[in-house]
Amino acid sequence: EDSMLQNETICQQLRLKNIQPFSAKNAVEAMRLLLSGYNVDVILLDIFLPTYAGYDLISILKSDERFSTILVVGLAAYREKDMLSEILDLGADDFIYKPYNINEFFARVRANIRVSKLIKRLKEASEKDYLTGIYNRRTFFHFLENLSVLSIRENKPLSFVILDIDHFKKINDTYGHDVGDFVLKKFAEIVLKMTRRSDVFGRYGGEEFCLALPNTDIYGACLLANKIRSTIAQTIMTFKNEKIISFNVTISAGVSEFSKGMSIDELIKIADNNLYLAKKNGRNCVYPLLESLPQKNLKGF
Ligand code: GH3
Ligand code: MG
Ligand code: MG
Ligand code: MG
Repeated sequence: EDSMLQNETICQQLRLKNIQPFSAKNAVEAMRLLLSGYNVDVILLDIFLPTYAGYDLISILKSDERFSTILVVGLAAYREKDMLSEILDLGADDFIYKPYNINEFFARVRANIRVSKLIKRLKEASEKDYLTGIYNRRTFFHFLENLSVLSIRENKPLSFVILDIDHFKKINDTYGHDVGDFVLKKFAEIVLKMTRRSDVFGRYGGEEFCLALPNTDIYGACLLANKIRSTIAQTIMTFKNEKIISFNVTISAGVSEFSKGMSIDELIKIADNNLYLAKKNGRNCVYPLLESLPQKNLKGF
């Protein structure tokens, strides 16, 4: 809202209803706020911002995946044209004419917040694995595809790792499925802590997990996989139920590095073959073996 008076009035009204407002007086400020990571549910957007920026902002917000859970409510005083249908057709989710009835205003804001929260929950449920909370297979491969394109464009390495818990079936058979589930959750928690924010971690299926490591060549990826392997091997899994059960698990990993002209299927296949070698050669190990790769002088490791 570019009118400072209206901007402050709306903010005050929202605060009275315990709705936290962030205000911006033009489209650039609004965009800056959105990109700084606030968890925004709804945008109340004055359509008449300087230089028609309100129209542009709706188009931008509605075409960008990052803002897909944010609902846009247009506000305008101009009644001569059919503003409502124009703005809704542009992609806005709701529209309010100014001056508005305050009760209707709040009811609409609340309704849009509810829908936004629902979309967030659905998005979370469709992107994440229910048990471990990490990305599911579909989302993981969506990210991996994007990273492979970036890797070529920026000429930066990209590696892929499959991690598989050893003899997991035995854990289920010995201690029961709830203990198996606990191990999967604990494993995911540990790996998540050991990876960078830019890495992508997902559940490939069952007791198999995968990592996409941007800016990381096969040597770096094997180092990380080994670090994860040794951390898991040293972790005592303690499950408390009627009695306390403590045990250790190990994992095996197969690694591959992406290169130009390679398909994602090929990338997976190479890692899968390496995982097979790791299983065949005694488990609790990572293939390719670090010794088999050209040695690098890595400080800090
Ligand atoms: P290997 O060392 O060769 O990998 O043997 P493994 O027993 O780990 O592998 P296998 O593929 O034979 O068994 C995987 C088991 O994982 C079988 C399946 O019942 C179990 N599993 C898959 N998903 C889940 C889950 O969500 N929870 C639990 N508790 N078990 C699961
Ligand atoms: Mg205005
Ligand atoms: Mg296994
Ligand atoms: Mg397996």
